[in-house]
Amino acid sequence: MDFTIDKYIQFSDALKRHGAHARMYHDVDRHPAYALRIAETECAMGWFTTYYFRSLHFSSHAGIIRAVAALGHNIGYHYESLATCRGNIDAAYADFCRNLAELRRLAPVHTASAHGTPRSPWDSQEIWRHHDIHRLDIDYEPKLDTDFSRTIYLTDTGRRWDGYHVNVWDKVPGHQQQWEREGLIFHSTDDIICALTTPGHPVNRHSLLVNTHPQRWMPFGTAWIAEALTQRIKNTAKWILIQHKSLGAKKKN
Ligand SMILES: [Zn+2]
Repeated sequence: MDFTIDKYIQFSDALKRHGAHARMYHDVDRHPAYALRIAETECAMGWFTTYYFRSLHFSSHAGIIRAVAALGHNIGYHYESLATCRGNIDAAYADFCRNLAELRRLAPVHTASAHGTPRSPWDSQEIWRHHDIHRLDIDYEPKLDTDFSRTIYLTDTGRRWDGYHVNVWDKVPGHQQQWEREGLIFHSTDDIICALTTPGHPVNRHSLLVNTHPQRWMPFGTAWIAEALTQRIKNTAKWILIQHKSLGAKKKN
C-alpha cells in the first residue's frame, strides 16, 4: 500500500543510500502534527531533512516547529505572500519579511519554498523578479536555486509522483518532458524505490530533489482513506481548472 508511514521508511532508506545526491524537503501544508511524526521517524533513521512551515501555523503550532528543529532538521518558510496580498508585489515582499522574522524567533531559517494555491492566479515566486531573496539571509529556495539540468524533481503533489499533468504550480516547466523521455517519471513510491535499487537505472546518474507533504503519509485507517478520497476529488478539480485555463489561453490567441 502506498503513502503509508511504512512505505515512507522504505523510501527514505532507498534515498539515504543515494547519499549526498538525494535531497528531501517537506512542505507542511496542513496538519503540522503529522510533520512532527515524520520528523521523529527520520531522526530515528539518522536522516535529516528540511520542513517548510506556512505562516498560519507559526503561532498555533510553535511547539511543533521548535520540536522539529530540536530533532536536528532544518526549518524553512513555506511562503504564499503574493496570493495573500492579492498580487501586490511590494506588499507581498513586506509580508514575506514580516513572517520570516516571526519564524526566526522559533528556529534558525535560511531557506524558503513557495506554496502553490491551485485556485490562485498568483505565483509567489514572482516576488523574486523584483526583490532579492538572498539578501534576506536565505541561502536556498528549491525552485530558484536548483540546477534542474542536473537534478530531477520529484513531488508527491496530487498523491502520486507523476502528477505534473494535474498540478497547477508544482512542476518544473522545460525539464519535465526531458525526464519523461529519459524514463525518469515514476507513478508509485515503489517505482522510485525499484529504480533506485536497480544498478544501471538512469535515475542513479542524477541528483534528486524530493518534495513531500507529511499529511499524506500516515498509517492505514480512517484518516488515510479520507486523505486518499479528498486528493482524488482535488485532482479532478485541478484537471478541470487546467483545461479551463488552456481553453482561455487558446481563445486569447
Ligand atoms: Zn504547499
